[in-house]
Amino acid sequence: MTPAPGNDADDGRLVADLLRTVPDFPKPGILFWDLTTVLADAAGLAATTRLLGGSLDGSPVDVVIGIEARGFLLGAAVAQALGLGIVPVRKQGKLPAVAASRSYDLEYGSATLELPAGVLAPRARALLVDDVLATGGTARAACELVEECGASVAALAVVLELPELGGRDRLDGRPLHALLQR
Ligand code: AMP
Repeated sequence: MTPAPGNDADDGRLVADLLRTVPDFPKPGILFWDLTTVLADAAGLAATTRLLGGSLDGSPVDVVIGIEARGFLLGAAVAQALGLGIVPVRKQGKLPAVAASRSYDLEYGSATLELPAGVLAPRARALLVDDVLATGGTARAACELVEECGASVAALAVVLELPELGGRDRLDGRPLHALLQR
């Protein structure tokens, strides 16, 4: 695994070194990229926050969107660093007031994500944050929720992209910044 081009090499190397893989989770044959070892390390968390927050290339942003669940942890740190607020995109049934909901296909079955009502300003420019971009279904659904509410996607920032799963293609050209690529 190598730091993606354009990121600070030292921070990227630290994050890559701290990231842990767990084979056969959550089911046989899946290699799970576990961020807990990065988040638990003070320098690792700081480096990840710097890299995610610095991935905007000067694009203006008004709000951070954290995608459940590891996107909440990362997104809150990034929002704090950028002086912004954070809005969670949650799995169905967790939010008491819902502005929009979107279902998407998983490898087996489907899932639904929801955006809370009354917290995302129309025309807000959003930075979406998550840990891993795999097939891109989750990220695409989150982007569509933001757009359905009248806001726009300034960028999607993830710690790790798994390019062989084609997630980037499912974003239809929305800006993607991956700190690391497998
Ligand atoms: P996808 O919708 O396929 O892009 O899946 C992305 C979501 O599933 C992210 O929120 C990740 O947290 C999680 N995910 C998918 N594959 C992995 C993996 N191999 N390791 C860790 N997390 C994963």
